[in-house]
Amino acid sequence: MSETLARPSNFIRQIIDTDLAEGKHNSVHTRFPPEPNGYLHIGHAKSICLNFGIAQDYHGKCNLRFDDTNPTKEEVEYVESIKRDVEWLGFKWDGDVCYSSDYFDQLYDYAIELINKGLAYVDELSAEDIREYRGTLTKPGKNSPYRDRSVEENLSLFAKMREGGFAEGQACLRAKIDMASPFIVMRDPVLYRIKFAEHHQTGNKWCIYPMYDFTHCISDAIENITHSLCTLEFQDNRRLYDWVLDNISIAARPHQYEFSRLNLEYAITSKRKLNLLVTEKVVDGWDDPRMPTISGLRRRGYTPAALRDFCQRIGVTKQENTVEMSTLEFCIREDLNANAKRAMAVIDPVKVVIENMSADVDEILTMPNHPNRPELGQREVTFTREIYIDRADFREEANKNYKRLVLGKEVRLRNAYVIKAERVEKDANGEITTIYCTYDTNTLNKNPEDGRKIKGVIHWVSAKFGVQAEFRLYDRLFNTPNPGAAEAFLSTINPTSLVVKYGFIEPSLQSAEPEYAYQFEREGYFCLDSKHSGNNQFVFNRTVGLRDTWSDTSSN
Ligand code: ATP
Ligand code: MG
Repeated sequence: MSETLARPSNFIRQIIDTDLAEGKHNSVHTRFPPEPNGYLHIGHAKSICLNFGIAQDYHGKCNLRFDDTNPTKEEVEYVESIKRDVEWLGFKWDGDVCYSSDYFDQLYDYAIELINKGLAYVDELSAEDIREYRGTLTKPGKNSPYRDRSVEENLSLFAKMREGGFAEGQACLRAKIDMASPFIVMRDPVLYRIKFAEHHQTGNKWCIYPMYDFTHCISDAIENITHSLCTLEFQDNRRLYDWVLDNISIAARPHQYEFSRLNLEYAITSKRKLNLLVTEKVVDGWDDPRMPTISGLRRRGYTPAALRDFCQRIGVTKQENTVEMSTLEFCIREDLNANAKRAMAVIDPVKVVIENMSADVDEILTMPNHPNRPELGQREVTFTREIYIDRADFREEANKNYKRLVLGKEVRLRNAYVIKAERVEKDANGEITTIYCTYDTNTLNKNPEDGRKIKGVIHWVSAKFGVQAEFRLYDRLFNTPNPGAAEAFLSTINPTSLVVKYGFIEPSLQSAEPEYAYQFEREGYFCLDSKHSGNNQFVFNRTVGLRDTWSDTSSN
């Protein structure tokens, strides 16, 4: 990956530089720790690029660790999708995939150590009472009546928890820290809770599961992570992260650093809400091309390079901010403009008959796949008497600013001839059904010899050889810039976020591979849909338009 060389610094890299210079660490070891309770989204891409990018640039290591402490919400399907997405983004984790559940035995032993040190106790308050006793930001908490149990009693009750001797919610293990701490996370946080749920990795071995704050720091230490990078909402939790590691016998000492989450305009980056879109069938699965998930962006035609470029451009800071959708679109346009092959498709077709051309002639024209990258090759496209052009590319009358086909005037067909519109045929509703034209046989990829200027160029598909296709035109999924803040975010869905059109593609596109975008001349970037294509069905997703028309119209 050539872009890694140019990766800019940020406050985390500065910390790493200092740590290495001072000899605090000899090498860097990061981790990306998703909870397998949903598909990864663009926010996770930021974290992936940060963690794996640092490992790459510092010749260190980055683990992929599933933070799988909540068996009721987690599934193997999510584990598989996350591995796929990380690899697709272009990263490779160090060694085997790790699971927090790999450490359940060790975590249990560390919990016993805390109990033995008088630093943890089994509480039998109800969940509601625990909340009540915890206090608020302005009101200190108060001690549970179970707080001062003896070590022996706690050991035996914790063993009873593990053996299934309590019902869910009847008991939990809590750290004994300070119910008056100004940091609510330090008010005797719960370390273990009871859940009679089968776990996707450990099956029915456990009915008690460790909480995130207890699990994460210990997993980091077990894996010899040096820099544990997470988002800002865990800032207060860092105290608990350090408290746990300070109070157990473990040699390694990872440190947590926080950076701001990526928020994207017109998008949601909460797995819970994305899951709701899927279960409510607002979208066609987690990989719906309108979803800000990595798999959705991929199905829409985004490339790994464009997403990495995006993550690099937005940078890593501690400031909360929201990135405009146009930044993401800029990145994919840049990539596809340089790298996508060109082809022709007519999305809203109207027939054109070239009357001075014989129906028996199939003229094979050769076209470049990219205007300035000859190494991308050429293709053959057949020109015939009957073709389709886009309805919007013809007018019976128009002023000079309209540089397409007008009745009585000329226009160039892309990579072909100049045609002139002679007359039209309409149906009973007055809709044009056929445009009759003539073509100038002396204008194949050259100007007319008499010096007349032809201003416009339009695209076309042979009616004889063109192949029927469906085009899915996507717009923002929400009609408010911050749908996550809306009371009922499902009511902010943009009803026209998907518009389906039926038209024609040039035959060469029958061999298009899913997810690899083409530039459809004058229309935008499109890729074959990986889910709905096949068996001679051609469904193309619009990745992005050619220009940022959306911000044009919004500023009007
Ligand atoms: P969600 O709110 O979508 O459930 P999460 O933080 O609970 O997200 P995890 O699976 O725990 O999801 O996230 C794995 C890693 O990705 C964490 O280190 C987390 O901080 C990071 N991450 C999640 N969302 C974002 C985001 N929007 N921007 C940057 N990093 C993120
Ligand atoms: Mg999480």
